[in-house]
Amino acid sequence: MVVILGAGLAGLSAAFHLDGRDRLVLEREPEIGGLCRSIREHGFTFDYTGHLLHLRDPSIRGWVLDLLPAGWTHLHRSAWIHSHDVLTPYPFQANTAGLPLDVRLECLLGFVDTLRRPHAEVPVPAAEPLDPALPFLRVAPPPADDEPTFLDWIHAQFGAGFAKHFFEPYNGKMWRRPLDHVTGDWVSWSIPRPELRDVLRGAITANDKAFGYNPDFLYPKHGGIDHLPRSIAAALPDDVVRTRCAAVSLVAGNRRVTLSDGSVETGEVVLSSLPLDVLCDLTVDLPDDLRRDARRLSCVGIRAVNLGVRGEAVHPGAQWVYVPDEAVPFHRIGLPAALTPAMAPAGHHTLVTEISYVPEADPGRDAHLHGTLDALLRMGFLRSLDDVVHTRVVDIPHAYVVFDRARREVLPKLLRWFLDRGVAPMGRYGSWDYLAMEDSLVHGRQVAAWIAARS
Ligand SMILES: Cc1cc2nc3c(=O)[nH]c(=O)nc-3n(C[C@H](O)[C@H](O)[C@H](O)COP(=O)(O)OP(=O)(O)OC[C@H]3O[C@@H](n4cnc5c(N)ncnc54)[C@H](O)[C@@H]3O)c2cc1C
Repeated sequence: MVVILGAGLAGLSAAFHLDGRDRLVLEREPEIGGLCRSIREHGFTFDYTGHLLHLRDPSIRGWVLDLLPAGWTHLHRSAWIHSHDVLTPYPFQANTAGLPLDVRLECLLGFVDTLRRPHAEVPVPAAEPLDPALPFLRVAPPPADDEPTFLDWIHAQFGAGFAKHFFEPYNGKMWRRPLDHVTGDWVSWSIPRPELRDVLRGAITANDKAFGYNPDFLYPKHGGIDHLPRSIAAALPDDVVRTRCAAVSLVAGNRRVTLSDGSVETGEVVLSSLPLDVLCDLTVDLPDDLRRDARRLSCVGIRAVNLGVRGEAVHPGAQWVYVPDEAVPFHRIGLPAALTPAMAPAGHHTLVTEISYVPEADPGRDAHLHGTLDALLRMGFLRSLDDVVHTRVVDIPHAYVVFDRARREVLPKLLRWFLDRGVAPMGRYGSWDYLAMEDSLVHGRQVAAWIAARS
């Protein structure tokens, strides 16, 4: 039997692609879906902050479209930045028109300055997969002392002005640590570097070019990203997924999992989408040095403030807004009702703010809630506190994996130790990576192929 820990997208995709094999998915929560669950309260639907489906792999796209025929809405990005009391289109570096003149000038001069120097593409050494059949389990070797950090990368790519007015404050709020403690290897694909022509044009007028990796995406028409995991689970036999059933300990050597109800399951293979640090904590035969290594892995949590609001959105059509201002607790505002009207009752909309936090410097939920409401009023996203008819604060303790030196030093050792025992970490936190939903679906498919190749 294949024992699968976690019924998020990676676990469900693995179960789906292991069709015909004996497999069992064990999920701690009462519901499946993991991060792709949705919360429905008083007619409002909230995801665990914005969950927009970008698909690159044609076979995953075909599968996903088949899962919810006619159930998807195809959307074009409407993303913005709120800074210096002005709303400008995403990305900041290609759209400074409307910002104060001195800000624009600093950004342009800094960018022009980067053109006089060689670009710092972060030269991350090539990484071999730990197992050729699991191409996603690949980590670059530890950084050399002179490898550019994320901070170096920002300055080399965009210059001092863009760094000062957007990248440094925004990413400081996001990562909650000095940016020279973050390695540059996660960013290159996700942050677009416009050409000089686009930067100049964007300083004069709105740039209508589609920049970046996510200009188009899918979202469930009937509201709530949980339609995706539910439709995968619906295609599985009833007895494959067991909820309210947490793994409390694992003996990796014989792949024996003890569950919260006292029962025990043993797999010929165990697939784990649990956060890797959690898996290490509950693995009883993990050597002490690796247990210490696992404690060096870092991530930030996201605290979402979900608000149901009376009336139409102040900026109709805007789907999300980045907020670099350091005086504002959140770094992003989501406006899910712009994705589909099904997210809120008629005559209402929702606002979701995302606050990145680390437990050792957390001012607390009340402070974040009050700071959020004050900032939304000040910024004009809320007309009045009386319009707020529903509030819920939700914590996501494992939200963004931190890319740092420790990750590259310890991750290959940990992954290798589990793989050698027939325990395959997968998914966003299992592989301790920056993964989108599509990637987690791909992981599930690849571990199924890996199991087929082993047998
Ligand atoms: C704030 C935020 C915004 C995001 N936005 C997007 C987006 O817009 N687009 C996009 O494509 N992706 C987005 N993602 C990424 C996406 O959510 C993930 O890639 C994907 O959902 C991860 O699925 P997974 O199965 O790997 O992990 P998870 O969803 O974390 O699944 C792991 C499962 O393991 C379960 N579990 C934990 N401990 C135990 C235990 N001891 N025993 C049994 N079960 C256990 C959990 O309950 C969970 O169900 C976002 C992520 C975050 C954090």
